[in-house]
Amino acid sequence: MSMFDTATATCPKCGAEAELEVVLSVNADRRPDLRAGILDGSFQAVPCATCGARVRLEPEFVYFDLGRRQWIVVHPADAVDGWAEAERHARAIFDESFGAGAPAQVRDLTEGVAPRVVFGWPALQEKLLCADLALDDTVLECLKLAILRNGAAGLTISGAHELRLAGGDAVTLSLDLLHGPSEAPEKRLDLPRQAYDDIVDDPAPWQALRTATGRGLFVDIQRMLRGAGDEAQAAPT
Ligand SMILES: [Zn+2]
Repeated sequence: MSMFDTATATCPKCGAEAELEVVLSVNADRRPDLRAGILDGSFQAVPCATCGARVRLEPEFVYFDLGRRQWIVVHPADAVDGWAEAERHARAIFDESFGAGAPAQVRDLTEGVAPRVVFGWPALQEKLLCADLALDDTVLECLKLAILRNGAAGLTISGAHELRLAGGDAVTLSLDLLHGPSEAPEKRLDLPRQAYDDIVDDPAPWQALRTATGRGLFVDIQRMLRGAGDEAQAAPT
């Protein structure tokens, strides 16, 4: 079941208020249209009645897609600094719903469902695209770090910028460069998919980083860029 409520959002351009239908949970198996709306950016967005600019509510819901084995707790982009607590909270809900505390029937049905925590629309869209493109998100995070490292994006590694998968196919992966929590991309990078396959084919140098990014539900290099600590040491040099 997908659940809705209404909420008020402020137009970023003129400040007028808009009322939107806001989702509390998304069941993508039953509502593939909601999944499509997340991917094309139309979900929880309306044109401002006063100036026409796009008004979009930040996400705050649980996304479930049994068919694609995805369970994702989605928070607003600007809540990312609280990732560690959000991760603990999501883990507890997941374990209670589908883990040892759940009925055997439920555990059987949901076996292999991967729990995740994301912040903001681009990060959610990225996880959905990973499912469509059969990408392992821990490998994708390694690829991002490689991009940041070799300076292809003209960037230094910091928490200020984010790279988010925006599309792709059998030969190309497209990533958007975002500045902070804003969802307006500064530029798009098109990479050969081979760059991803190279990491899969030669996993040893990346193993520590993959383990570090995949140790919790927040599978994102932001956990290292923002959180520092011992996880930052896991990246190959
Ligand atoms: Zn407006």
